[in-house]
Formats: sequence, structure tokens, C-alpha cells
Amino acid sequence: MKAIRAGLVFVSTVLPLFGTDPVPEVARLLAEVIRIDTSNPPGNEQRLAELLKTKFAPMGFEIDIIPTPQPGKANFIARLRGDGSKRPVLIAAHEDVVGVEREKWSLDPFAGIIQDGYVYGRGAIDFKGGLAVFAQAALDIARQKRPLARDLIFVAEADEEGGAYGTRFLADTVWNKIDCEFALNEGGWIIKDANDKVQYVSISTADKSSITLLLTARGTSTHSSMPLRDNAIFRLARALAKLSEYDTKPKLTDSTREFFLTLSETSAEPMKTHFRNLATSNDPKLVAAADRAISENPLLHAIMRNTIAPVLLNAGFRTNVIPGSAEATINFRVIPGTTQQELIEEITHVINDPRVEVTVAPASMTRGPVSADQQKAMAARDRLMSSAAESRKSGALYEALVTQAKLTYPGAHVTPYLFQAGTDAYAWRSRGVPVYGIYPYPISAQDLERMHGNDERVPIASLESGLKMITNTLLEVAAK
Ligand SMILES: [Zn+2]
Repeated sequence: MKAIRAGLVFVSTVLPLFGTDPVPEVARLLAEVIRIDTSNPPGNEQRLAELLKTKFAPMGFEIDIIPTPQPGKANFIARLRGDGSKRPVLIAAHEDVVGVEREKWSLDPFAGIIQDGYVYGRGAIDFKGGLAVFAQAALDIARQKRPLARDLIFVAEADEEGGAYGTRFLADTVWNKIDCEFALNEGGWIIKDANDKVQYVSISTADKSSITLLLTARGTSTHSSMPLRDNAIFRLARALAKLSEYDTKPKLTDSTREFFLTLSETSAEPMKTHFRNLATSNDPKLVAAADRAISENPLLHAIMRNTIAPVLLNAGFRTNVIPGSAEATINFRVIPGTTQQELIEEITHVINDPRVEVTVAPASMTRGPVSADQQKAMAARDRLMSSAAESRKSGALYEALVTQAKLTYPGAHVTPYLFQAGTDAYAWRSRGVPVYGIYPYPISAQDLERMHGNDERVPIASLESGLKMITNTLLEVAAK
């Protein structure tokens, strides 16, 4: 509620100063971008690429619209030349969004509605808001005609939410247009409290990756009128029951440790102590108590461990036949450095039943038929994701982000962060490019729940402060 009031104050105070148009350019750009429906599948990102061309071409950027084998799907690259004395900086944002459950929205998700100090629509947070902020920062820098020491490359890529023609396609086909010293992407958060004060800024330096395992329980296939004791479905159910009682041990990366220490500083007791204990204590009892308390929050539970999520079940084909096998597909989101083999060993040990086999699941995200080519592409993606090293917490871009976050949000803590999900940054990271992630707008925990959900929105005031932070970061890194 606080945020809505702040938004109204914003509109009423700015209106008389600027006359007819109180909505800042970055918010108007976001609304325009939301109006192009890029729900993926199918994405249809080419129309967004064409819109971006009309913004970037007149400002002196070199434009490439990179077509893909899928009609209507295209990637966008704009390059603003520096003098070449330093290597380029890349800023990347995905063009596509996830689909909507339209009946659950209170307004049109693709109308780009600006209301009560917010921009509403699918992608407002993930990640058209970021696309608008990154694009506006690049356009503003071009408008200022500041001499640059390095090229500024803006990329708007397809297929982050699924599909095969996003960052990896670009890295494979036009790496010479992408190659850079470091890159900015989606990732960490600028979290504000109920009083609109920014608590902390987290900058992601790595993403979790995904390993999917298949449990296959075996029994005797026979007539259902005379059941045997070795029923495959019961066996699978027992294995799943054991997994449901099990949780993996916390595995803190350096970034997660630093993140929890930051949370310790921004939290009240008893969480203050729990966060500190989890990050620093050697006492297993204190760590376990801290884990229990902190894991009440599903996000925090997820960033400190490999998570376990059963996602598909498959067994049987008719009522009078007991099937000889039953399968469960389990999706694990893992801390960087976790191997398939160690995960298989851990899960096999937990299930402790020689008639339940644990293997790597065939690479596919859905139950439907998947072509051999798609399987190969997804397996390659999973391999690249798990091989992408954590980006170093140093270098001009990381340092500029830290400096500008502190200047833009005085009093806020700034911390590195292991992003709880996967992003398409792996395509650059796996080629050795450090990538730093941020959703560049202060956001409340309540508004965060709307991401990939209903009535997704971002405050206009947040877009403006994020734009300031990103523009100054890029100038610090690239200006002469
Ligand atoms: Zn995203």
C-alpha cells in the first residue's frame, strides 16, 4: 500500500513541473515493450527487435537483427562505438516472457497500463522492465554523446524462457558481435522494505543449474487379481516417501555466505543470529537450528542447497495389469560445482533400495514427444550451465555496480548473490565472460510474488532510480 501512495505523490508532484507528460521516458518505453506480446512459446520476438531498431538506429548504434530458423523469432544487437582502447561491455536482456492465465489478471497483461505510479503487464519485472532500463541507459548515454573508451553492446535476446535460439545460438553463430570484457544481465535484487527504503542490493555472480534424475522402481508384472509383494508402484512410493523426508545439507558458496552476512545485518533477532550462525558457525547444532529457521523462506532454503522437486510420474497402462516398472522424474536445482554422479550417489543412498534405479533423466522439459535434436540441444545446455564458473567479485564492472548501488541507495548493503534459478547468462559465462545479474529496480517482497504470476507490475519510481544506477555504472565503466 505504501508504494501505491508513493506513486500517487510522484504523479501529482511531477505533473505541474513537466506539464503534459508526467510519465518518464523509461516507463513509456517499458509500456511500449509490454504491448508487444512475446509470450514464449512461440515468442515472436522479431516484432520487439524491430521496435528496438527504431529507438537505437537514430541514436548512432550499429544494428543487427539476427534471424533464427524459427520464423518470427529474432535477436537484437545494437553497438555504440567507443575508441576501442578497452574491450566492450555487454548489457543483455531477454525479449520473451512467460505466458499468462488471463482470467486471473485484473487488467490486460499486454496493454502496458500505467496506473497509480506503476507500469503493469507481463514482463514488468521479468524482464521487460530490465530491458527498458538497460535500453534507456544505453540510449541516454548515446544522446549525451559522451566519448567512450569501450563499445557499449546492447543485446535483447530471444528464448530465455524456453527454446533454442537465445544466447547460446548467438554465442555459436555471431560471437564476434557479442565478445566483451564483461556483461550485465538479469539476476540479483534491489529489495526494499515496507517504508520504501532499499535494504540491500544483491548482484548475482552465478546461477544455480538443473539436473534431472529418473527413479525407476521395478517389480513383477502380473494380473491385478493376484498382487505380489514386489509391486513397482508401491516400491516407487516408498522411495518417494524417503525423499520427501530428506533434505540436502546446506552448501554455501562464498557469495551466499556474504549474502547471509548481509541479511544478518539487515534483520532483527532472532534471524540476525541465525543468519550469522549459518554463515560462520562450526557448531552443527547451531547450524541445524539456523537452517530450520531460515528454510521457512523457500527462496533462502533454495539458494543454500541442492533442492529436490518431483515433477513427473509415469506407471501402468490398464486396470487389470500390474506394471513391471514405475518412474518418477525428479528435478534438482543445484549449487554450481555439483556433479550428476555425486547427486546420483546421494539419492541412491537415501532411497537405499537396489530395485530402484537412479539415472540421469532423458533431456526434455515436458512429458510430450521431444525430437532427437531438441534432446541433444537440451543436454548441451545442461552441460554448459553446470560448467559455467562463478564470475569473479572484482573487475571494473563489478566494482562500478557496487559503487553506484551504494550511491543510488544510501545506507543499503551491497552483496554478491547466487541466483536461485537458471538464466541464459551461462552462454557467456561458459565462454569465460564474467556476468553480473540484477533486476534494476527496487522491489518489495509482495510485488516480487507477481513475477511469472498475475498483475505483474513495477513502480515507476523504481525504474527511474534503477536507470540512474545503471546509467552511472555504464558511464563509470565505459566513459573516457
Ligand atoms: Zn527472466
